[in-house]
Amino acid sequence: MAAHAFIASRDKRQVARTAAFLLNADAPSQQDVIALPDGAPYGRISINTEGCTMCLACVSACPMGAIRDNPDLPQVRFIEQDCVQCGLCRTTCPESVITLEARLNLTNEAMSPAILNEEEPAECTRCGKAFGTKSSIERIVAQLAGKHSMFQSEDAQNLIRMCDDCRIIQQTENMAGEPFAAAPRPTVRTTADDLAEREAARDKSKDN
Ligand code: SF4
Ligand code: SF4
Repeated sequence: MAAHAFIASRDKRQVARTAAFLLNADAPSQQDVIALPDGAPYGRISINTEGCTMCLACVSACPMGAIRDNPDLPQVRFIEQDCVQCGLCRTTCPESVITLEARLNLTNEAMSPAILNEEEPAECTRCGKAFGTKSSIERIVAQLAGKHSMFQSEDAQNLIRMCDDCRIIQQTENMAGEPFAAAPRPTVRTTADDLAEREAARDKSKDN
C-alpha cells in the first residue's frame, strides 16, 4: 500500500473518513459506499415523504446538526457525514417515518446537504410572504372553516391564510365587526358642563 501524507484535523470523524478514503483508494476493488452493521456511528437516514408533515421535530432533536431546515423554504435537509446514527430523530418523529441505515459513504455527497423532503410554501394572501407549508395551512382551514364558531365567515377563514403580522393588522381593521370590539367611549363630563347646565337653567327660570 502506498504511503499517504495528510494533515490530521482535530475532528476525529474527519480523520477516520480521510483514512478510510485513502485505504479505499489503494484497495484492489474500490467501494464508494461501504455497508456497516446496525449501530455503527456512520450512516444515513431516510424519510417516507408520504407520511412526513414537515413538523421539523427531527431538526430540533438531532444533537449533531445533521438534519437541518431551510430558513427560506419548507425543507428537511441532511448531511450524512455528521450523522452518528443515534436514532433520536427516529424516536422523536411523531409520524414514525424515519429509517436509519448504517454505512460509510466516501463520496463528496456525504459532505453536502441533501434534501430529504420539501413542500410548496404557503404564501400570505395579504403581503405574499412565504410562511409554513401550503398543505398544513389548508389542513387547518379544512378543520376550522365553518366548524369553529370563530371561523364561520369567509373573512375569518382568510385570516388563517395570512402570516402572523398580516393576521393582526387585518383583525384590527375588521375590529368593527368583531365581538371583542369595545363600545364607543362615553363623552367625558366635567365640572364645567355641570356649571354651564346650572347657569342655563337659572337663565331659563329668570325668563319665565
Ligand atoms: S420526518 Fe418526522 S419529525 Fe421530521 S419533519 Fe417529517 S414528520 Fe416531522
Ligand atoms: S440518527 Fe442521530 S445524528 Fe443521525 S440524523 Fe438522526 S438524530 Fe441526527
